[in-house]
Amino acid sequence: MRIDIITIFPKMFEPVLGESIIKRAKEKGKIEIYLYNLRDYTLDKHHKVDDRPYGGGSGMVMTPQPIFKAVEDILHRTLAGTIPFCSAQGRRNTKKTKILLLSPQGKKLDQKLAKKLAKKKHLILICGHYEGVDERVRQFLADEEISIGDYVLTGGELPAMVLIDALVRLIPGVLGDKKSLNFESFESNLLEYPQYTRPAKFRNMVVPNMLLSGDHKKIEAWREKEAIKRTKERRPDLLT
Ligand code: SAM
Repeated sequence: MRIDIITIFPKMFEPVLGESIIKRAKEKGKIEIYLYNLRDYTLDKHHKVDDRPYGGGSGMVMTPQPIFKAVEDILHRTLAGTIPFCSAQGRRNTKKTKILLLSPQGKKLDQKLAKKLAKKKHLILICGHYEGVDERVRQFLADEEISIGDYVLTGGELPAMVLIDALVRLIPGVLGDKKSLNFESFESNLLEYPQYTRPAKFRNMVVPNMLLSGDHKKIEAWREKEAIKRTKERRPDLLT
């Protein structure tokens, strides 16, 4: 998978993309991630990416010009052939690429959506700032808007990193033990069962005897029961 990120703060990504599973996924050749500074696509000498909203109101809105230009540049790099010019009349025609706008107004990210996106060959992520982006980006450029939850953050960088983390670990071969995905929370609409590790007794707090029994059939049944109990208590909405 290839992920291209359009942002005014590319440096924010470096520590996250350079550590842990994402770092290993890159080293294994499972993902390629490229960062683009939106200011490099502006036409004025001040590299301005925002302007006042039409109709008045507080704050600034990100202008469409550098965002369209950055997406076109990425498509040009990744597609053989002609440069797709994105406008109201002629939308790009690139089935393999999905252009995602991070937005609190978008579809809420969950495990199902992460799984769907993890199958894509190419994602372009657009990170907004200020009061958000000019509506024409949403209307004529983005394929989908993704929200990471019902709260408003300052910019789309953290949501983009959350999205990348959620889907990179789902790409086959990224996690060392693929079985670890099978029983995770949200698989079969259940939260994961309680997990314990050594020591069996810690400050008088003990691990349930069942897990020490060595009877794998019974342990499996116990875990399923605990997963259902936990889901009923904490997230009954998942069971409906
Ligand atoms: N004025 C906008 C609104 O009310 O919908 C919010 C703009 S927010 C301050 C600036 C940028 O942060 C957005 O364009 C988006 O890229 C990003 N953002 C903020 N909250 C987000 C969320 N929950 N999920 C995804 N992106 C978010």
